[in-house]
Amino acid sequence: MKWYQMGEEEVKKATGVLGADGLPQREVDKRLKRVGFNKLDEGESVSALILFFMQFKDFMVLVLLAATLISGLLGEYIDAITIILIILLNGVLGFIQERKAEKSLSALKELSAPQMVVLRDGKWLKVPAATVVPGDVVKLTSGDRVGADIRLLETASLRIEESSLTGESLPVHKHGDRMEQTDLQLGDQANMAFMGTLVTEGQGIGIVVATGMKTEMGKIAHLLQTTETVITPLQRKLEQLGKVLIAVALLLTAMVVVIGVIQGHDAYTMFLAGVSLAVAAIPEGLPAIVTVALALGVQRMIKRRAIVRKLPAVETLGCASVICSDKTGTLTQNKMTVTQVWASGETWHVSGTGYEPHGLFTKGKKETDPKRHRSLHLLLSYGLLCNNSQLKQRTVKKGMLKTKESTAYHIEGDPTEGALLVAAMKAGFSREQLDRQFKRLKEFPFESTRKMMSVVVENEKGQRFVVAKGAPDVILQVSKKIRYRGEQEALTPKRREEVERTIQTMASQALRTIAVAYRPLRPNESVDEAYEAECDLTFIGLQGMIDPPREEVFDSIEECRQAGIKTVMITGDHRLTAAAIAKKLGILPAGGKVIDGTELNHLTDRRLTEMVDQIYVYARVSPEHKLKIVKAMQERGHIVAMTGDGVNDAPAIKAANIGIAMGITGTDVAKEASSLILSDDNFATIRAAIREGRNIYDNIRKFIRYMLASNVGEILVMLFAMLLGMPLPLVATQILWINLVTDGLPAMALGMDQPEGNVMKRPPRHPREGIFARGLAWKIVSRGFMIGVVTLAAFWLTLQANPDDLTRAQSVAFVTLVMAQLIHVFDCRSEYSVFHRNPFENKYLVLAVLSSVLLMLIVIYYPPLQQVFHTVPLTGREWLLIIGMAAIPTVVLGGFRLLKAK
Ligand code: ATP
Repeated sequence: MKWYQMGEEEVKKATGVLGADGLPQREVDKRLKRVGFNKLDEGESVSALILFFMQFKDFMVLVLLAATLISGLLGEYIDAITIILIILLNGVLGFIQERKAEKSLSALKELSAPQMVVLRDGKWLKVPAATVVPGDVVKLTSGDRVGADIRLLETASLRIEESSLTGESLPVHKHGDRMEQTDLQLGDQANMAFMGTLVTEGQGIGIVVATGMKTEMGKIAHLLQTTETVITPLQRKLEQLGKVLIAVALLLTAMVVVIGVIQGHDAYTMFLAGVSLAVAAIPEGLPAIVTVALALGVQRMIKRRAIVRKLPAVETLGCASVICSDKTGTLTQNKMTVTQVWASGETWHVSGTGYEPHGLFTKGKKETDPKRHRSLHLLLSYGLLCNNSQLKQRTVKKGMLKTKESTAYHIEGDPTEGALLVAAMKAGFSREQLDRQFKRLKEFPFESTRKMMSVVVENEKGQRFVVAKGAPDVILQVSKKIRYRGEQEALTPKRREEVERTIQTMASQALRTIAVAYRPLRPNESVDEAYEAECDLTFIGLQGMIDPPREEVFDSIEECRQAGIKTVMITGDHRLTAAAIAKKLGILPAGGKVIDGTELNHLTDRRLTEMVDQIYVYARVSPEHKLKIVKAMQERGHIVAMTGDGVNDAPAIKAANIGIAMGITGTDVAKEASSLILSDDNFATIRAAIREGRNIYDNIRKFIRYMLASNVGEILVMLFAMLLGMPLPLVATQILWINLVTDGLPAMALGMDQPEGNVMKRPPRHPREGIFARGLAWKIVSRGFMIGVVTLAAFWLTLQANPDDLTRAQSVAFVTLVMAQLIHVFDCRSEYSVFHRNPFENKYLVLAVLSSVLLMLIVIYYPPLQQVFHTVPLTGREWLLIIGMAAIPTVVLGGFRLLKAK
C-alpha cells in the first residue's frame, strides 16, 4: 500500500508514532542513527591535498622550480634548497588562507540551512531540517520549504507549489484524507507534501514518511547536483586586472634581465633574479586574498548577526543608497499591548504593562467590567476565538542569597494575536473556557494580502459562526452591519464615518488597529474558501495596540542618513500608524510623502519613478507592491536593500540589489531568495552590515594598495639599477624572502583592519566605481616609485662607502626595501595618511609587522642564514641610513597630504 492510500491510523502504525505527543527525543536519536541525517548527498568537494597542490600550479612558480632545479644541478645547493623552501612556505600560506575562506563559507551554508517545526515529547520545536526523521509529526506553514516527504493529516487552506518536482507551476490544493486510487502520479497525490516543494498558502500537519535520499527529491537528486562557486564582481574584475598586471610585470622583468645582461651581468644570475622577481611581483594571489578578506568580513558580520548568503552582496552593501524596511518587528519591537478599545460607539482605555494579563478597562475615570458590556464582551472574546497565540509563563529567579521569584510572560505565536489574547484575559476570559463553549471547525489563516483571518466555530447549541479579525479598513469593506448602542444595525455611511474617524484617531497615536466582526452561518451553509466566509459581516469594534520602536533604531537611521542612505518604511499597517511611527523614528522628514497601497495601485510605473525620491513611507501595502517599489527605485539609479519575510515578499527580495530576509520570522522562501539574513530581525543589524560591507571593500583596497606598491617598488629598484649600470641590488633569495615576509602576514592583517572613522560619513560608493578610483592608482604608482628610489639610494650610498663590499650594499638595499614596505603598511590604513589614525589600533597588523621585522633580523644576524640570503650584519650608521631612507616616502607623501587636507 502507498502512503496516500493509508488512513491516519495506518500511517501512524507504519511510522511507529504512538500517542499524540509526537516522537520522544530518545526515539528520534535512535532513528537518526539508523537512517542518517535528512540531507541530499552533495557533490565531492575539493580534497585538501588537491587544494595544496593547486597552490603550485602557477606558471611562474613552475618556471622558478625548473630554474631552481637547474641551479641545483649546477651545484648551487643552498640557493636551490632555500628557494624551494620559500616556495613551499608560500604554498602552505596560500593553502591555509583558502581553507579558512572555504571553511567559513561552508559554515555559512549551515547557518542558513532550512528548519522545520516538529512535535516531540508533546512540544512543538523548531529544529534543523537535517535532524528530522521518519515518524516526526511536523507542521507546515505558508512560506515553508517542505523539508521531507510528508503524509498530511490535517490542513487549513493548504496549497503547495511543486514545480521543482512535477514541473507544475500553479500551487496545488492539499488535504489530509486518504485516497483510494492506485498508481497516482506525484502531482496527483493531494495528501502528500514532498521535500523541496513550497507551501504558498495555509497550514498543515502531517507525519514524515521519508527523509534524505529516500525522498522523491532524493531519487532525482543526482540530477540536481551542481557545484557552483559564486565569484563576486570585484573578484572577476581583479582576475581580469590580474592578467594585465602579470603581463606588465613579465615585461618589466624581462627588461631587467635583458638590460642586465647587456650591461655585462652574469646571464645565469640575471635569469634567476628575473624569475624570482617575476614570482614576487606578479600579484597572482590577489583574487585569493580578496576571497580571504571577504570571508573574514563575513565572519565579522555573523558576530553582528547578519548572515551573508551570497558573497557578492558584501560588495553591494557598500553601494546601498536606500534601505526599504518592514516596520513590525524590524523597526519596532513587535511586543504589542492593547491600550484602547472601541465598541458600540464608546472608547475605553486598557491599563497594564507588557504581556502581564492584569489590567483595568476605564472610561474617563470610571472602571468598567467588560463582561457586563455586551459589545465589549464580544469584541474581546471573539478577538480570543479567532486567535492562535498562547501566553506562557516563566519563573525568573532574582538575587543570590534571598532569591525572589517573579513570573515573566511571553507570547508563543503572532504578537498581534498575543495582544488580543492578553486584552481578553484582562477582561477575565480564558482560552480553556472559550474552547469549552466553542468548537473550531475551520480556519482561514492570516495572509498579508488579505490582511485578515477568520475561523468558523460552533457553540454549545450547535449554532455556527464566522468570526473574523483584521485590518479595520478591510473588515469594514466586508461588513454590512454594526453593533451599536447594544443593537445590531445597518452600517450606514454615518456609522462607517464614525468608525473611520475612530480608526484615524487611534492610528495617529501610532496605535496598530485590529477590527473584529462576525456573522452566523445559515443551517446548511458551507464555506470552503476564505472569501465565502469573510463577507456580510457584523462589525463589532476595534482594538488599538502599541508596538514601541526598537531603541537602537533611532541611532541607526541617523547614521544611515549621514552615510547618504535613505531609510524607507514599508508596512501593511495603517497609513497614520505608519506615519506616526516613521516621524518618531526620524524616517519621515517634514515634507516627506506617505502613500498607501490604493494610491500605489493607481500610479503608473513611470509616475512612481518620478515621485519615488519624495516618498518615505508606504502604508497598507501588500507584498506584491514591494516589487513595484524596488523597480521604481532602481529605475532612479538606486541600489536598494529590501527586507521581507513572507512567501509573497520573495520576488521583491530577489529583485532588490540586496535582498534581506528575517531570521526569526522569515519563511524559508524569503530566506532562499535573500542575499542577507538578519538573525535578530533588527534594523540596526542592516546598518551594521552596511558598515561592515563598506569596511570590507575599504580593506580590500588597502591591501591592494599595499601589495601593488610593494611590487612596483621591487621591480623599479631592479630596473633602475640595471638602467644606471649598477650592480644587482638584490639577489634571488632576497627577493623571494621579501615577497614571503612582507606580502603575507601584513597584507592579511590589513584585511582585518577596523573601519576608518568616516566610513559611515561619506556617500555610498558608486556601483560602477573601479577599484582604483579615488586616487588609488596614483597612490600605488607614486609610492612604488618612491620605495624604488630610496632603496636604490641606500644601496648606492653604501656601495660608495664600501666599493668592495657588494654583499653589504645588497643587505642594506634588502633591509631598506622591507622597512619601507613595513612603514607603508600603516599608511595604507587610511585614505588620507598615516597621521590620520592611531597606528597601534590594529593589533594583528602590529604583530604581523613585528614578526616580519624579527624574521628579517634573523636573516641578517644569524650566521647560517647569512650565507643563504647573502647578507652581513649591519652597523649603527647603516641602520640610521636605512630608517631614514625607508621613512622618506611616508614623511614626504603623508606630509604632502596632511598639508593638502588643511
Ligand atoms: P510589516 O512587517 O510589513 O510592517 P505589518 O505587520 O504591519 O507588516 P501585516 O503583517 O501585513 O503588516 O499586517 C497588515 C495588517 O493586517 C495589520 O495592520 C493588522 O491590522 C492586520 N493583521 C496583522 N496580523 C493579523 C492577524 N494575525 N490576524 C488578523 N489581522 C492581522
